[in-house]
Amino acid sequence: MEASDKKTFPVYSPTTREISAIGAPTLASTFPLTSTNPLPPVPEATASDTNAAVAAAKAAFPAWSALDPTARGACLKKLAALIRIHNAELAHLEAISMGMPISNFHYGHTCAFQLDNHAEAWPHIQGQSSVNTPGHVTMTLRQPYGVVALIIPWNAPVHFFGSKAAPALITGNTVVLKSSEKAPLAVARIAELVVEAGFPKGVFNIISGHGLPSGEVLSRHMDVRVLSFTGSSRTGKLIQQAAAQTNLKKVVLELGGKSPAIVFDDANLKKAVEQTAKSVQSNSGQVCMANTRIYVQKGVAEGFVKAFTEKFGAVRDGDPLAKETNHGPQADGVQYENVMRFIEEGKGTGTLALGGKGKLEGNGGFWIEPTVFLDTAEDAKIMKEEVFGPVVNINTFETEGEVIAKANDTEFGLYASVYTRSINRAMRVAKALESGYVGINCTSPLTGRDLPFGGYKGSGQGREGVLYSMDNFLETKSVIIQIEDE
Ligand code: NAD
Repeated sequence: MEASDKKTFPVYSPTTREISAIGAPTLASTFPLTSTNPLPPVPEATASDTNAAVAAAKAAFPAWSALDPTARGACLKKLAALIRIHNAELAHLEAISMGMPISNFHYGHTCAFQLDNHAEAWPHIQGQSSVNTPGHVTMTLRQPYGVVALIIPWNAPVHFFGSKAAPALITGNTVVLKSSEKAPLAVARIAELVVEAGFPKGVFNIISGHGLPSGEVLSRHMDVRVLSFTGSSRTGKLIQQAAAQTNLKKVVLELGGKSPAIVFDDANLKKAVEQTAKSVQSNSGQVCMANTRIYVQKGVAEGFVKAFTEKFGAVRDGDPLAKETNHGPQADGVQYENVMRFIEEGKGTGTLALGGKGKLEGNGGFWIEPTVFLDTAEDAKIMKEEVFGPVVNINTFETEGEVIAKANDTEFGLYASVYTRSINRAMRVAKALESGYVGINCTSPLTGRDLPFGGYKGSGQGREGVLYSMDNFLETKSVIIQIEDE
């Protein structure tokens, strides 16, 4: 649907730097689904469009929340099936908007998995009851909040679409979801599938646009009762402030990371190298939980660094639409410039051991070489702030106490990992790490399918995951019943 003022915004391919969203000829010709029907421009939701979406969700809430949950689940299942069918199309749209290689795209399936699981999860929407208050029966009711807003980032939009919308909808809430201005195409396509899936009008509203105005309107809206956000810590703070200044809506925040991986001298080094390299290379380093700080025990550091740089450097960069590519460009010029700035500063605070160059001048796209710095000062900016690119710092340590202190010396706490063959050491370190997730002899992006995900400290508040996310969208009402003697 177009914006009320007909305003649109362009989406540029990070590969060609041509406009993707009106079907740049070089890309459209490779995409059978759009070659005869170029992609339309992306609508920029105005403040009044955003208000209208919230009003539609508010009007749809009574009927949707009263529906048999299996009927809500049926809509989710239908959408899951449609998304699976259109996985290749969604992969193409992500590739031409934010550069994710199609070889890495499995998000149609992870999204459908979330929708299917939540469609069946309604029996877990349960309160509790007790007779612990003499003369009374007590119970809690779990009920939906009403209108919830979901704001998602650009680095894996289809995944976040599923992981946020499915629990919000099955619990009986109605939804306004805003995609990221950097990668709105796949979500816009899913919006069409939402209509096809038969969701009642007003239940599931999807808008595209920038943080200003639509994101801010949602975070300040008096009728939005929960705002679930995934994105940068900077925006998370703005949303938290907006919520505090308006209706104190519940805010769930999944934010950035600066994840440490710790490699002890008794570890399986081959595995540690392979997994830590993949962690920071995946999605060209644009992953919140990427292990961007690696600490290696001194005795094995030389061998680790040699094997790591070989592995990490051997990427196949190229057109994200080509099957063999596993290293795409950064999402856009802003990301590219940011990462290059970190690399330039990093050269003054550590030793460059691999990469360090951007390829913009060479091929026109926003690729950055896998980059490794050694022996960086612990207080350097690159050790403290999220780079969000294919850049890693490898430092050494001698003792367990020393490395725990270094790993925890950050305002982030999303994912940490430890490689060692000692179970006692693994568990001591896992307990000491200030992190919402700990991998032992494995690292991100690996996650357990039924574990909660979320951050300590500045990496966020709240947890998401199957059976955990539903809690974010359910109020708890206490009911006490007095029993009279007849
Ligand atoms: P971002 O904060 O720039 O944008 C995220 C979303 O917020 C976008 O939809 C944007 O339009 C919107 N937004 C921007 N300003 C807003 C405002 N004032 N009010 C409301 N909404 C606003 O983040 P990004 O660059 O899209 O994503 C990258 C960041 O996301 C990284 O920091 C990464 O670590 C984080 N991330 C975290 C997780 C996690 O699960 N913890 C997962 C993926 C990404």
